[in-house]
Amino acid sequence: MSSGPVGNESGARLAERARQVVPGGVNSGQRSVPGLTDLVVTGTDGARFRTADGREYTDFHSAFGPPLLGHNDPDVARATAEAGATLGHMGVGVTEGEVLLAEQLTELIPSIEKVLLTSTGSEATFHALRVSRAATGRRLVVKFQGCYHGWHDAVSLNVISAPEKVGGHDPISTGILPEVLEATLVLPFNDSEAVRRAFAEHGSDIAAVIVEPVPHNVGALLPYQEFLTTLREETTKAGSILIFDEVITGFRHDIGGWQKISGVTPDLTTLGKAIANGAPVGAIGGRADLMDLFSTRPGAPAFFAGTYNGHPSVVAAALATLRKLREEPVHEHVFRLGERVRTELTGLYERLGVPAVVTGYGSVFVSYFMPGEAPRTYADLLNNDASLFVGYRRKLLDHGLFELPLNLKRSHISYAHTDADVDRLIEGTEAAVKAVLAD
Ligand code: PMP
Repeated sequence: MSSGPVGNESGARLAERARQVVPGGVNSGQRSVPGLTDLVVTGTDGARFRTADGREYTDFHSAFGPPLLGHNDPDVARATAEAGATLGHMGVGVTEGEVLLAEQLTELIPSIEKVLLTSTGSEATFHALRVSRAATGRRLVVKFQGCYHGWHDAVSLNVISAPEKVGGHDPISTGILPEVLEATLVLPFNDSEAVRRAFAEHGSDIAAVIVEPVPHNVGALLPYQEFLTTLREETTKAGSILIFDEVITGFRHDIGGWQKISGVTPDLTTLGKAIANGAPVGAIGGRADLMDLFSTRPGAPAFFAGTYNGHPSVVAAALATLRKLREEPVHEHVFRLGERVRTELTGLYERLGVPAVVTGYGSVFVSYFMPGEAPRTYADLLNNDASLFVGYRRKLLDHGLFELPLNLKRSHISYAHTDADVDRLIEGTEAAVKAVLAD
């Protein structure tokens, strides 16, 4: 495992220096975790990471999802380094890698006829909404409670909402114009009737519906097939654009995304995270007539730009990742371990007599501490015992195991995880849950 340039400086000292010059000491919301404010990462390798104070953890957080192959995958690292050594970013024209990547994305993802690269998922969802408004001339956007689509204003609301905020507008930030918030309708996920009602009332004003086909930003709410079909039917009938935000589900659940799994094809798709195993890339793709509205085509109306879009090193990382996803049994491996985790954790909680539901899909898993069936709506999640959810994850740290200790966060398995890692996770979880119950 390679180490960062931290030398002997303890995590606490470096974290304090960070707080002097970086607001909160970290570079993204939710990186500073209560109980872990002095976390300084110095090295990553496969399924593990190391910290400045000499600890090593098996990583089930996986950076919120990108490294599906594991950290520092050697093939991706080699491709990235080679590109970095031979091809700088020109910001004009196109490179062969960009063409190859676009061709592959159009082959792999059912809805994608044409595609543009961004640097992040947020940029992709921003542009998906912009082009939907450009195409329809309409004002309103529909999103669902519990879904996250990035940091920009139109979607910065109603992700993890307190019970009293569900049903209204619940912005995740100040500084957003009220008229922007009002142009976003928030509906309950998996509620087809609510979708039909919204379209009956506002259909001719709705530019787009944006949805995480599996809302993983609150753990995992598996969609009813009939719900996704309803979204497709209602948007088609009303002439609105259906956007699947597959930033998490894309590549991780299937190389063709959830649209391949469900057979429901959206008009536009946004991608990110696992596409390049951790290199900063996003993409927006879909129907050619919509994509041709972007200003990358002369005279087209929807402005689209980004200095780093299509950066050669990032494109090389994506091509190497996709090659490995196609050529090696990555999905088979992570799905098998994911199934093991869900089955064995379910058995563990039963044995301990702890009301819990273990759910997820493929390589994603989450334990909710509540009785009953796997949750399907955000309202179901309000029954989760947040103190046990966060508490056992804090105790897991004592066993060298890392699941993000924040309420409702999902965990991930990568190609670098092994059966022995799963064994350790199950043993550690048993000890951690028992410790919380004994406190
Ligand atoms: N959409 C979804 C479904 C996401 O989970 C995220 C990031 N968590 C985004 C969009 C935004 O992506 P980024 O953080 O790369 O801007």
